[in-house]
Amino acid sequence: MHERPEQISDPEQALELLREGNARFTAHPEHHTGHPAEHRLRIAGGQHPFAIVLSCADSRVPPELVFDQDLGDLFVVRTAGQVLAPPVLGSIQYGVEHLHVPLLVVLGHEGCGAVKATLEALESGSAASGTAIDSLVEAIRPAAEQALADAGPGADEEHRLAEAVRLNVAGEVAQLSADPLLAEAVEAGRLRVVGATYDLHDGAVTFS
Ligand SMILES: [Zn+2]
Repeated sequence: MHERPEQISDPEQALELLREGNARFTAHPEHHTGHPAEHRLRIAGGQHPFAIVLSCADSRVPPELVFDQDLGDLFVVRTAGQVLAPPVLGSIQYGVEHLHVPLLVVLGHEGCGAVKATLEALESGSAASGTAIDSLVEAIRPAAEQALADAGPGADEEHRLAEAVRLNVAGEVAQLSADPLLAEAVEAGRLRVVGATYDLHDGAVTFS
């Protein structure tokens, strides 16, 4: 994979590289990419990542591993529940404007603890904790409320959580797509924004 061109500018080609990488990961999880010293040295002078991945901080979902990519391939921003905040958006804008990355993936995952905690907080009506964790709950709240409303009372918890994860990713994709700087890049064909979810059990990433 180190034979690829220095800079990838086609969003579809970038997406295909991620699809292929995740297929390698699910088929041969034991054969993850090595990190040869010569490659590290070759990219020390500058980075040309081909995808930005905004993913959950969950320790089971490291983008470089699940997409089987090497040093220098992915520009990764991680927060619990992959929630947005000004420095998160700033990092993504930097990747698009200054590193010319053609693909932005919002990667949620099965069984997300941040989404689950938000659902539980809404259901129990528990008071805010007074910590910065409240900011995660606030960011995920719209998706969680929608999932609770859609599912109705007595719904299967696992199904409800999966729906909230899906809605959370979709909401984050919508927020990012509405950002003027990113929208301009999309309009110009320089960027594609896609949502995706990761299955903790089989390792597969499903793009929405
Ligand atoms: Zn998570």
